[in-house]
Amino acid sequence: MMKDYYQKLADLDKKHFLHPTTSIKQQQENGPEFIFTEGKGVRLYDLDGRSAIDGLSSLWNVNIGHGRDEIAQTAYDQMKTLGYSSCFATFSNEPAIQLAAKLAEIAPGNLSATFFTSGGSESNDTAYKLARHYWILKGQPERKKIISRSKSYHGVAMGATSATGLKPFRDFTNSLAPDFCYVDHFSPEALREKIESENPETVAAFIAEPVQGAGGLHIAPEGFFKEIRKICDEYGILFITDEVITGFGRTGTYFGMDHYDVAPDMMCFAKGVTSGYAQLGGVMISEDIHKDLIELSEGTLLHGYTYSGHPMACAVALKNLEIIERENLIENSRLMGLELLNGFKQVQKQRSIVGDVRALGLMGAVEVVKNKKTNERFEDPLAPKIVTEAAKRGLICRSVVFDQQDTVVFAPPLTINQGEIKELIEILNDAILAVE
Ligand code: PLP
Repeated sequence: MMKDYYQKLADLDKKHFLHPTTSIKQQQENGPEFIFTEGKGVRLYDLDGRSAIDGLSSLWNVNIGHGRDEIAQTAYDQMKTLGYSSCFATFSNEPAIQLAAKLAEIAPGNLSATFFTSGGSESNDTAYKLARHYWILKGQPERKKIISRSKSYHGVAMGATSATGLKPFRDFTNSLAPDFCYVDHFSPEALREKIESENPETVAAFIAEPVQGAGGLHIAPEGFFKEIRKICDEYGILFITDEVITGFGRTGTYFGMDHYDVAPDMMCFAKGVTSGYAQLGGVMISEDIHKDLIELSEGTLLHGYTYSGHPMACAVALKNLEIIERENLIENSRLMGLELLNGFKQVQKQRSIVGDVRALGLMGAVEVVKNKKTNERFEDPLAPKIVTEAAKRGLICRSVVFDQQDTVVFAPPLTINQGEIKELIEILNDAILAVE
């Protein structure tokens, strides 16, 4: 009976549901691998009765884990009293105000004011528009260009796609984005050269993820961001951080940039701000930029989303942050991140095709190589096969194969414990053994 229902849903999925970031052909051939019905802690449960460790916190976002009654209650209470009201012009609401104030308390540097969106892509588009708006008000309207890094991922709205360094994502919008350019992901010198070659007076901002996530999990080398900050200051360019994945405890500190002791001028966030229980993102701006905007602005800033400052999403975010702090999840992320890295190192010793392994907090990666000594890759990447084998054994993770990479990435919920990490590592080891 249940099998029939599963099949019926799978058929409807193929016929009517266009999945995000999915091969439409493969979807037609295979149908959905899982139809999830429930989540609890670090695990997801499927209509078929199978369960799996959510090794990527779904999309790097379910920081507090699945199935939180408190969050459901908060959303219910808020929807019952005020489900929605606009935040345009003179309208505001309590949760949005409280959340903006809370973010000012916890954010790096002197980031002090927030423009709310519904997610990371909108946050990136907003940041670029705010940067342009800022330079127009400052009397430098020719500062339009946004520089980003190779291997970066900033989302799929027009600006966010244009800033994304992973070429396949932005290939079909290239012609729409003449004011975006890219530099090598770990080279401050390349940034300096790019600024010089583009003419510094035409550059509005540089954007970077503190740890690159979707592009293959790349952790910046020592001193990198300090050097970046220096170069941005030297040329008067705004430094924007994209903390959409790294925010809210993911890397073992509140924000990724806290590891580097560098303050950005603007910061994009989303995902972990609500742990995925509601759609919310935003851009924070520094106190200095805010002051300038207050002093110089005339007329209306013509940018805003219907759901900017959504009361239910903001109430959920406040409860989510309360849980992160009350349960010391940032410290747990740091400690379990070390466990995860140790586990990767064991797998590296045991398996012949594991090259570099790395983690910062609960963001980690295992690279697949043909030859450990030379780092030579397989012609056909094996990471996607490892991900399939892991899923069969009850572990969800993701492969990254852009730019000749062959990497499996992880970002389990910040609530994960030692026993669950051990289980994750055992399944990973078995999945690699199955393809080795
Ligand atoms: N920025 C970064 C660093 C991301 O990883 C993502 C999504 O993975 C985004 C932006 C886009 O966020 P969203 O999918 O919420 O639009």
